[in-house]
Amino acid sequence: LQEKLIKTFKSISGKGRISEKNIKEAVRQVKLSLLEADVNFKVVKEFIKDVQEKALGEDVLGSFTPDQQFIKIVRDELIKVLGEKNIPLSLSSKPAKIMMVGLQGSGKTTTAAKLAARFKKEGKKVLLVAADVYRPAAIDQLIQLGRQIDIPVFVGDRKNPIKIVAEAMDDAVKNVVDIVIFDTAGRLHVDERMMDELKEIAGQLEPDEILMVVDAMTGQDAVNSAKAFNEALELTGFVVTKLDGDARGGVILSIRHVTGKPVKFIGISEKIDGLEPFFPDRVAGRILGMGDVLSLIDKIQQNVDMEKAKKLEEKFAKNKFDLEDFLEQLRQIKKMGSIGDLMEMIPGVPKEVDLSSGEKNLKRTEAIISSMTKAERRNPKIINYSRKLRIAKGSGANLTEVNKVLKSYDQMKAMMKAMNSKKSKFSKLFKGL
Ligand code: GDP
Ligand code: MG
Repeated sequence: LQEKLIKTFKSISGKGRISEKNIKEAVRQVKLSLLEADVNFKVVKEFIKDVQEKALGEDVLGSFTPDQQFIKIVRDELIKVLGEKNIPLSLSSKPAKIMMVGLQGSGKTTTAAKLAARFKKEGKKVLLVAADVYRPAAIDQLIQLGRQIDIPVFVGDRKNPIKIVAEAMDDAVKNVVDIVIFDTAGRLHVDERMMDELKEIAGQLEPDEILMVVDAMTGQDAVNSAKAFNEALELTGFVVTKLDGDARGGVILSIRHVTGKPVKFIGISEKIDGLEPFFPDRVAGRILGMGDVLSLIDKIQQNVDMEKAKKLEEKFAKNKFDLEDFLEQLRQIKKMGSIGDLMEMIPGVPKEVDLSSGEKNLKRTEAIISSMTKAERRNPKIINYSRKLRIAKGSGANLTEVNKVLKSYDQMKAMMKAMNSKKSKFSKLFKGL
């Protein structure tokens, strides 16, 4: 009843849930901000529409305003779309082959050298290959960079890129090179002859990675070229360069949205060490802008989490941890990362407690728990054999799975009890729940 009252009260005060009306201003601001960051306008439209659909109807938590909560959802979704974690290069052949492609001036040659220097630091033997034969200066540029980082550059006959690539591979095998990086020719615009040549090289080489280098400053145009390259070649990822300038990196969202391929590195200076692995969560804030709003949102979120932790703690104190709390707990844990990592940090938690099944099969667990009656969820003790059978049937699970969920619940309850006796530590560690 109390919950009901609170909800009613909230909706009277106009907060309650996110609606199209109460986030109008935030939607407008986010749109503007993304456009300012050079995200392609079509991508902005689609992205906002998706996020809005997801956000509508969500409860407004704690002391968030609907606008603030929407912006938080936008950021979370942005991180999700960008890929959540860094995707490393996948280099399995021996020698491993990386082909750099992209428009002229995007930073292919520079990035090839930056990558080579990175690998060398890791103790790998690297060979750079100059397959951009149309501009003699491009070959010299690579030779010079190679000299600077003390890595050999294969130039071959300086004329026929297909031949150069084949000979370079022979050379790499002979010298037991670990990684070969091919610098290729780019034009100012996408053109068929260039694509045909790249396709031929890629077909012959079968590279482990085909990385398209994109200049972050090229803004709206980047979408079209990324799309064209991705359709012609089996790109494995992108490097977005020149993020040291004013560019906020909207290009990253655009190309990810349009091609679905990950950005693997970003270029952050002209210098050889100006290359970093790409981490979506670090860049999401920059693309979204709104720095002040975001840090305010983080502060409010901390309070929301604390309130939740406090409520849960009260429940343990009264030993009133039911299956609904269990489910909520699993959801929270899923958000925070592995429970294994958390348990490691908590002294006195028995190591044999295994909650991984609940954690892994959250959907399944949700289905099983939703097939229970309210009375069963509140008081799991009453779940006897025939009830279990009914629950299994209702959720499309089998009996073993139902038993597993109940066992997980029992274990978590026991764990909570154990932790409850170490209350102060608990509230610190489980701040995020
Ligand atoms: P390519 O034509 O694709 O091979 O491009 P280049 O490697 O020759 O690079 C073109 C220009 O962009 C050069 O002046 C580079 O120094 C510069 N450049 C490349 N990457 C970066 C970067 O991450 N930051 C900055 N500021 N400049 C870069
Ligand atoms: Mg070049």
